[in-house]
Amino acid sequence: MISVYDTRAGAERPFEPVTPGVVGIYVCGITPYAEPHLGHARPAVVWDVIRRHLERRGYLVTLVQNFTDVDDRIIERAGREGVSAAAVAARYAEAYWQAVLRLGVRPPDYMPRATGNIPAIVDLIRRLVDKGYAYQAGSDVYFRVRKFPAYGALSHRDPDEMRTGARVEPNPLKEDPLDFALWKGARPGEPAWDSPFGPGRPGWHIECSAMAWRFLGPVVDLHGGGVDLIFPHHENEIAQSEAALDTQPHVRYWVHNGLVTTDGVKMSKSLDNGMDLARLLDEFGPAVVRGYLLSVHYRTPLDFSLAALDDFRRAFARVARLWEAVADAPPGAEPPGGPEGRILEEFPGRLLSALDRDFNTAAAWAAVFDMIRAANALLRAGGPTAAAAAGLARRNLVEADRALGLLLAGAVEVARPTTPAVPPEVMALVAERDRARAARDWPRADALREEIGRRGWRVEDTPSGPVVRRADA
Ligand SMILES: [Zn+2]
Repeated sequence: MISVYDTRAGAERPFEPVTPGVVGIYVCGITPYAEPHLGHARPAVVWDVIRRHLERRGYLVTLVQNFTDVDDRIIERAGREGVSAAAVAARYAEAYWQAVLRLGVRPPDYMPRATGNIPAIVDLIRRLVDKGYAYQAGSDVYFRVRKFPAYGALSHRDPDEMRTGARVEPNPLKEDPLDFALWKGARPGEPAWDSPFGPGRPGWHIECSAMAWRFLGPVVDLHGGGVDLIFPHHENEIAQSEAALDTQPHVRYWVHNGLVTTDGVKMSKSLDNGMDLARLLDEFGPAVVRGYLLSVHYRTPLDFSLAALDDFRRAFARVARLWEAVADAPPGAEPPGGPEGRILEEFPGRLLSALDRDFNTAAAWAAVFDMIRAANALLRAGGPTAAAAAGLARRNLVEADRALGLLLAGAVEVARPTTPAVPPEVMALVAERDRARAARDWPRADALREEIGRRGWRVEDTPSGPVVRRADA
């Protein structure tokens, strides 16, 4: 009934978990070293909807999402601030969850941290060494890529043609440039744990193999992450898990979400073009941000702009207005009939079949807006037709809320005139000023601020980013 696009197969396949009726999901989580941005919210919201839909279809779902809480970027920040790496990781993991909970995301069943799973990580590395898949080189341990013939099957790359990937640690002791670190020997000032290979810390890839194994067993039904993780992270995870655990395939469906970009460039902290998540939630409200993230299919890249988000807010106000109109409507006795009546009646089926087809939230949203158009037409007609339509529209919004998470209580606020919509041309100027400021072009930023003022709006720079208000507010 459900089909899922699997990156490894390069095609949509019927969904069949290893144990009928039970689904284990592992999603690669964040590395908490800075404030969360919109790119972090996308997988959280996408997997929240996938989990809701699988549960709706009767599956018992276990969702695991990790925190990579030991990493070069965390250690670097801790050194700069004179605090421990654990303190940095805890602070930004908390900031991430505060923001994600506002988006109506139900917390995963398990949220393991790499540093809380060192014994499982060491156990896995020891198995790989014992089987000849890994070797010690100085104080580090490496995976012997050439010993794993299926290497490259996920990313559809040929190891012979592979250039060394993005995160390659130079080490003359490595047998092959393709080999990647499982264990990194301790360096002064860095966190370290004891192990049979000497003191050190885990490499990035091995933690996910270890935590997926510990919390879900040797086979994972759905494994998620951004497309930027396909190579080398997930390729390495397959090699580690399948070699150590004699399991094949380790993952039944690889599910990769598209990235959030600005002007086509990946939104990331290292590029400093991230839209601060807390700021967007304050400005637009969680219901609008969540709906916007789901307005495109999860595999499609989302090219973010404030103007596009503001457009979505205007569209979303129709959801809120309809909910205000029908929230107390009783179920109608007779269906309203006619083409619009049919759209209202058939909505729950259309919604679920959109999600059955590779969790297509864009198609689900299209169904919601068609349904709203039909409901509004019938409500305008008045009389018994309108009463029947109101009952069905109410049922349909409840169904959509259950499937997508419309956050209806908060959504009503969106429709109220107390939050005036900022015109898109003003939002475009604000975005342009953001870019000018990022490029340290202060004269241009000041000129844009004046231009925004001439249009009757005021931009205030707050610690979490600029806020736009009416000039007379
Ligand atoms: Zn991972």
